[in-house]
Amino acid sequence: MSDCLFCKIIAGEIPSTKVYEDDLVLAFRDIAPQAPTHVLVVPKAHIADCDAVTAENSSLVAHIFQVIPAIAKAEGLTNGYRVVSNCGPDAGQTVQHLHFHILGGRPLTLEMA
Ligand code: AMP
Repeated sequence: MSDCLFCKIIAGEIPSTKVYEDDLVLAFRDIAPQAPTHVLVVPKAHIADCDAVTAENSSLVAHIFQVIPAIAKAEGLTNGYRVVSNCGPDAGQTVQHLHFHILGGRPLTLEMA
């Protein structure tokens, strides 16, 4: 989508600090980290949010959850980490492109980070 921030990052139109990439997925560092490690994992295909996950595209989500442990390991998160996906206004979703936050590097509270 032409007006989507994360689509622009995926297209290389906006810079990001990439930590992982394959044909289906890009992972990059959050610009405003809430923990010592804060990585965003996004499907390259535009999916707006969790509500937009369907039988047709859910394999992308499964793939994301396959790569998350590898990213966490590469980031040195040996003592655990949190995966968060905000969906809609009450969750505080600010970018309307499905993404999963990987947070770690310190003990996390029950707040998002
Ligand atoms: P959410 O609030 O769950 O929609 O998460 C969106 C995340 O995107 C926030 O944690 C922002 O800090 C992050 N973010 C916004 N713009 C950028 C950017 N240009 N590069 C990296 N992360 C970004």
